[in-house]
Amino acid sequence: MDYQAILNVIQKEFSPDDEMGKVASYIPELAKVDPLKFGVYLYCQNGDSFQFGDSQEKFSIQSISKVFTLTIAKELLGRDLWKRVDVEPSGTPFNSLTELERESGIPRNPFINAGSIVVADALLSVLDNPKRDLLKFVRKLCGDDDIFYDESIYKSERSHGYRNKALVNYMKSLGNIENDTDKVLEFYFYQCSLAMNCEQLSKAFMLFANEGLHFQTGEKVIDKQSVKRVNSIMQTCGFYDEAGEFSFRVGLPGKSGVGGGIVAVHPEKYAVAVWSPMLNEKGNSALGMKVLERLTTLTGFSIF
Ligand code: GLU
Repeated sequence: MDYQAILNVIQKEFSPDDEMGKVASYIPELAKVDPLKFGVYLYCQNGDSFQFGDSQEKFSIQSISKVFTLTIAKELLGRDLWKRVDVEPSGTPFNSLTELERESGIPRNPFINAGSIVVADALLSVLDNPKRDLLKFVRKLCGDDDIFYDESIYKSERSHGYRNKALVNYMKSLGNIENDTDKVLEFYFYQCSLAMNCEQLSKAFMLFANEGLHFQTGEKVIDKQSVKRVNSIMQTCGFYDEAGEFSFRVGLPGKSGVGGGIVAVHPEKYAVAVWSPMLNEKGNSALGMKVLERLTTLTGFSIF
């Protein structure tokens, strides 16, 4: 498969200039990002890699971080985690409060904010320093120490995170938060502030394309069952209330973030990361969705 030729076609066909979406602004620091940034990086199981555009520039990974924290929590807590967070698509926006009341404080899945806040709380309960351990884990997955939390994004979200404050307090009142709510949110906002580029993201996600093995060393990081679980939650819940649309159009498990990044995984083939900050009305990268749809069309294969 000539992936570079396919990426070249995609680069010619799509331009951020033609997009109608908007950069996320509810976190003020994100509103400063240049809407015309556009990059792709595809890493193959055999070690080949292909890219174009701003694939080396770091951006705020936001909700993509939810995959990393879920992976760690699943390893540390096993099945107990599923008593506190469900695995059903929500059909509601990423920051929705509505389902929580009906479900007695159990979030619909770990990839909406409420679910990831519960995962953050669970990690706080079992780790002395989850902020340090998350960074260590992500750096190890990428084989790259040049990954940091972005303090300005963290502070910006912390000072405007009213909805997330409501979510954590509401879940605390229903008994599904174990730790101090400020501490939980501090860790949650830090995880969302991780800054990574497309290359680092695609390498990190090779774990889910490569049966849980590290892309470089071959070391087993998680078992095959965890890979199945995380991939299936990405498939059904990775795109807020547009998860069905992404699955329908792209046909791969993946996860997006309001920083404009999307990472998708083709098991046993590749992991690909796209960055284009302009979001559609559901909060997913408008161009990212189109690029990945085109990629699976031009390659002729998806997981289906
Ligand atoms: N930090 C963002 C929030 O909690 C993440 C949202 C996202 O990327 O979906 O609102």
